[in-house]
Amino acid sequence: MRIGHGYDVHRLVEGRKLILGGVEIPHTLGLLGHSDADVLTHAVMDALLGAAGQWDIGHAFPDTDAAYAGISSLVLLERVMQRLAELKLKVGNVDATVLAQRPKLAPYIPQMRENLARLLGVSPDRVNIKATTEEKLGFTGQEEGIAAHAVALLLENQS
Ligand code: MG
Repeated sequence: MRIGHGYDVHRLVEGRKLILGGVEIPHTLGLLGHSDADVLTHAVMDALLGAAGQWDIGHAFPDTDAAYAGISSLVLLERVMQRLAELKLKVGNVDATVLAQRPKLAPYIPQMRENLARLLGVSPDRVNIKATTEEKLGFTGQEEGIAAHAVALLLENQS
């Protein structure tokens, strides 16, 4: 077994979509970034790459590379999974927490779990996603940004 941790932050701005776990969520603000800025999927990818000893998404998908401009982070996750397959690693489970003051994320979490589980090659019950506010404290509380933490367990594929 191998364990990895991921953490990411993106700034909230006007005029951008809010995409978390591949779900477009109606909101007045969205996340700024080179890709679709899906902060949850980014934290999950960093946890997977971390567990695999493969550095981080900044090295896997440099934001200086125009190929990644506006790209869906689910496509990037698919590429991370290809790399894991090459290394004969498969996902055991993932647990993640999104830190956001607004909007309420609970209604969208089942779809996020399905989206990520499909790409991770596991059932949705192995992809736990939680959302919390930080009680109006700090940059997430002040709605300046959204942060996400993730941990991932990888298993060495014997088959
Ligand atoms: Mg990011």
